[in-house]
Amino acid sequence: MTRAIYPGSFDPVTVGHYDIISRAARMADELILGVGNNKAKNPLFSVDERVKMLEVVSAEFSNVRVEPFSGLLTDFAKEVGANVIIRGLRMMTDFEFELINAQTNRMLDEDIETVFLITDPSYSYISSSGVRELGAFGADIFGFVPEAVYEMIKSRMDEIRGE
Ligand code: ADP
Repeated sequence: MTRAIYPGSFDPVTVGHYDIISRAARMADELILGVGNNKAKNPLFSVDERVKMLEVVSAEFSNVRVEPFSGLLTDFAKEVGANVIIRGLRMMTDFEFELINAQTNRMLDEDIETVFLITDPSYSYISSSGVRELGAFGADIFGFVPEAVYEMIKSRMDEIRGE
């Protein structure tokens, strides 16, 4: 049985993340969406909000569940009994960063494999940081985030801008 983790900040979840979630859900018997609780990253959305959004977005997949985690990813993987880490790749700059992470995680635990899914070309320019920036300037983020959480994200962005 393959139990995989797709870890990320998901601050907020985007259509690019959703694409990786739906593809990974077909590959693994069980998929855990690990929401990184890393305060150093200064997230816009709280960990509870990010977990909630992912729960809404992944509700259609019976083999997907969402869990927050802090600390080492390999420790979290061991804790939940996962042996595969899924990451998405958009462009070469992602690759350099991901290569270091995957090799470091392999040093920490060689039983855990990192598997990369290449983004669908229509989502390669989409990132959480891009969505946060658009939202900060009041641009419409429709099409950038899954429709099921659009209102939730939009209202939070409006609130932050004081509207
Ligand atoms: P992190 O802070 O861990 O990089 P993110 O939430 O930014 O978390 O991203 C989580 C994972 O999703 C990463 O592997 C990232 O490369 C991937 N990802 C982000 N956006 C996209 C996208 N548009 N297409 C495919 N993969 C993506």
